[in-house]
Amino acid sequence: MFETIVALATAPIKSALSIIRLSGDDVFDVVSRCCDKDIKSIKERTIIYTSIIDENKKIDDVVMLLYRAPKSFTGEDSIEIICHGSPLICKQIIETCIKYGARMATNGEFSSRAYMHNKIDLVQAEAINDVINATTKEAKDLSLLSLDGQTSSLLQPIKTKIADILSLIEVNIDYPEYEDIEVANKETIIKVVDELIKEIDVLIDDGKKAKIINEGIKIAIVGKPNVGKSSLLNAFLKEDKAIVTEIAGTTRDVVEGQTSIDGLVLHLFDTAGIHDSTDKIEAIGIEKSKKTIKEADIVLVVLDGSNKLDEEDKEILEYTKEYNPIVVYNKSDLNNKNNGLSISALNGDIEPLISVIKEHVGLDEKAFSKPALNNARQIGLLTKARESLINAKNDASNDLTVDLIATSLYDAYTAILQILGEGNQIDIAKEIFSRFCVGK
Ligand code: GDP
Repeated sequence: MFETIVALATAPIKSALSIIRLSGDDVFDVVSRCCDKDIKSIKERTIIYTSIIDENKKIDDVVMLLYRAPKSFTGEDSIEIICHGSPLICKQIIETCIKYGARMATNGEFSSRAYMHNKIDLVQAEAINDVINATTKEAKDLSLLSLDGQTSSLLQPIKTKIADILSLIEVNIDYPEYEDIEVANKETIIKVVDELIKEIDVLIDDGKKAKIINEGIKIAIVGKPNVGKSSLLNAFLKEDKAIVTEIAGTTRDVVEGQTSIDGLVLHLFDTAGIHDSTDKIEAIGIEKSKKTIKEADIVLVVLDGSNKLDEEDKEILEYTKEYNPIVVYNKSDLNNKNNGLSISALNGDIEPLISVIKEHVGLDEKAFSKPALNNARQIGLLTKARESLINAKNDASNDLTVDLIATSLYDAYTAILQILGEGNQIDIAKEIFSRFCVGK
């Protein structure tokens, strides 16, 4: 029994129209109690014009989209009420629906119902959020590929391949007397596992790129005072008139800005110094800078190209060495004393640096149109599947028994199922009987 839930699907602001969404087993009963049409007799998906009425008082004239299960987003009977875009009217309609039997939906409940009714898998459910939250056209387009199931389908061949090899192993264990089945020997297993690892590596690599397109990259701008860090931040932000926000705290603090270049979102952090300081307030700023550097995807060391490097520059280069930084010489409009990547933040001449950043990120044109698993949960589970496959390969190489190898393969299979949100239990018997004529 699925209770009827109701929620406002559009923003709670004054607008031309608003949409109220309802879904559940008795949604037609609930809404029929407060509208002037006999909607219960309608069995097909359709649109009607009607009024929402409570105790003989009209609340609003509305358009209603009526969906009969399973042909709806949730897979249940559902109704969308398009009313005038007044927060007051929306509130009244929702309260009336609740009065006649609906209850307020919880966060994401419509999507979770769609998932429960197998209308979408977990990857598609996550993509709904990604589409709504995308800040660039490129990120939105990529999320749409996930939403229509193209990303999920990337996992199907991997799932099938693991199930095939597992079934083969199980058949070998359970039905050794059958002579006409392929033998699950070490070589066969290693060959298949190697192929699987290669396929997963491609998915992880593409996934990391898609994650960058979705979430952007964090760049920490580091350098001694007066080399032009703030000017560089401003030069970047001018590209997109982005908002610069001063993170609350001390005056010597990290300043953050966000912009996008060719579909790539850059989160820029202008850090305070990183030299040792006895000043308490300065020390807090320095700690924050170090944390920002640690968490950044790219560390950008800015040097003053019009001057020779001094001790402080060298200390910064030494400190950031482990982060494989991009080193840039600013003030190229002055007498440049250094070879290397040169820019003039003051003149907004930062193109060479943008090219190097793009190269560093490694996004090619294809990455923007290729469906890919793209968030930390999905990539984490792919990595887990990969680790289990490596274990299976090692076990096979070390001549361990096939049932031990199968345990690692089961783990890999489970991780793949978890990405899609499919049940954790593998019905291996079903897999076996669907592939072999055992017991015929
Ligand atoms: P920060 O302390 O590293 O953030 O440096 P600022 O951005 O405040 O810049 C320090 C000084 O250098 C300012 O007077 C800037 O106008 C100047 N400056 C910054 N970038 C350039 C540049 O590319 N060329 C020249 N000539 N001056 C620059």
